[in-house]
Amino acid sequence: MTLPFGLPLRSLLVLLVGCAAVVSRAQAGDPGMNRVAESYVKLVLAVGLHDGDYVDAYYGPAEWKTEVAGEKPALPLIRERAAELRASLAAMDVSGGEALSRMRHKFLDRQLAALEARVAMLAGTKFTFDEESERLYDAVAPTRTEAYFQDLLVQLDQALPGSGTVTERLEAFRRDFVIPADKIDPVFQAAIAEARKRTGLHLALPAGENFTVEYVTDKPWSAYNWYQGNFQSLIQVNTSLPIYIERAIDLACHEGYPGHHVFNVLLEKNLVRDRGWVEFSVYPLFSPQSFIAEGTGNYGIVVAFPGEERIAFARDVLFPLAGLDPARAAEYARVLSLTKQLNFAGNEAARRYLDGEISAEAAAEWLNRNALMDPARAKQRVRFIDKYRSYVINYNLGEQIVERYVETHAAGDAQRRWEIFAELISTPQLPSGIR
Ligand SMILES: [Zn+2]
Repeated sequence: MTLPFGLPLRSLLVLLVGCAAVVSRAQAGDPGMNRVAESYVKLVLAVGLHDGDYVDAYYGPAEWKTEVAGEKPALPLIRERAAELRASLAAMDVSGGEALSRMRHKFLDRQLAALEARVAMLAGTKFTFDEESERLYDAVAPTRTEAYFQDLLVQLDQALPGSGTVTERLEAFRRDFVIPADKIDPVFQAAIAEARKRTGLHLALPAGENFTVEYVTDKPWSAYNWYQGNFQSLIQVNTSLPIYIERAIDLACHEGYPGHHVFNVLLEKNLVRDRGWVEFSVYPLFSPQSFIAEGTGNYGIVVAFPGEERIAFARDVLFPLAGLDPARAAEYARVLSLTKQLNFAGNEAARRYLDGEISAEAAAEWLNRNALMDPARAKQRVRFIDKYRSYVINYNLGEQIVERYVETHAAGDAQRRWEIFAELISTPQLPSGIR
């Protein structure tokens, strides 16, 4: 999924009629771990009956969903079962197994720990912002002072023409880079085609993978990938607010190639189908999996369009398609690179607000002043924070951690960058495992 004003979010509940392949192709593997995995899937579906945002996608056996809906276990029983599953995992000796099995073992335990935390929250437990993000996403965002953002604001102040506050001048400046409504689809399709082509040159995608794009309005996010299983996604783009030209590449990569669509496709291909690891046929939104999904979704933009390639493609193809002035592409990119560094301001507003230090109005005001959001977008972001809470760190911190991991291991080699990235999106990864 993509946050309003730039940050990405994930898919809501997607139901798919049962995927028989999930079960029939299950390999011998580890019977103990497979049993835990099946119980884990059913527990995630059970939490989904108490929390409509929890199950982001499910394409496992349809009868499991029917079974869970029939029982509808209460929250205390779900917690009890999660604790039992974690005890079973703790009793297993996986030290002699292959590396991927050990990662799977750790992944299941950490996903279950996050499930326990979400269930505790649904039952009324209040965590601080940092406790919550640690429990749900296996990560804690660094704290940035207001002075940190002020330094960036001074640079933007100097870069932006006109009069008024920096926020007002940024809005005025960006108005020249809005995609006209009748050009949105052709511009997006061009960006998607290019992102897909670039991804296909480096990653082996299964035959028949595809997605459809829909334009919607009145959503708390700017775009959403609803993974449907069988290598298909439905991507929705919210057109309620003006869409700036850079969003075409952002969304094509983040939601599609090599972001969420490819992430889901490779997990289904490599883990669910080839190995019979059913736990990957369900995706609990409030879990460490989202940190990896959003981090790779955002960094996937850089992987697909490294260095100057992004500006070049926007200038040569997307600006003309949208009827915008290509001569201003570089100037626009410079301003955007400064505003991107303000993304962490969203964490500070969320942390202070959710920890009860400031009101919703003060949080919106903070975003207006330090993240340069106009009042309408700042209010919309506060509503997003109300609903998704510490999920906001998955975008900026997630991207930063993924970037460091990929670049450290790739050491400047373009093909190696793709390989490391592919490994992150097709194996059981945890945020604490890539720091
Ligand atoms: Zn996303």
